[in-house]
Amino acid sequence: MSDLNGETIATLSDGSGLTRGSAELLFDTVSDRSNWKLPVKGYVYPEQQEAMEQAIIFFTGSVPVFTSCEVCVGCGMLQVFAEGYYEAVGA
Ligand SMILES: [Zn+2]
Repeated sequence: MSDLNGETIATLSDGSGLTRGSAELLFDTVSDRSNWKLPVKGYVYPEQQEAMEQAIIFFTGSVPVFTSCEVCVGCGMLQVFAEGYYEAVGA
């Protein structure tokens, strides 16, 4: 599967390419551990927001929403939520 992981799935605004392998690593940090097709919830650093958005769209077909972390003050992370694969596909 290494060729698949090297495939570029999106070009980011800084011109760099997001590979499938990098996207999967990011997505794994926010996907449901029991079933990745369930709604997506998690945290991401602001500098990874764009890559995370592309990763979630790529794997689930749903567009994520990012908000400031409301759990604590000052962690600097964003909360991310997406409907996930089942909702997006209507399955
Ligand atoms: Zn926080």
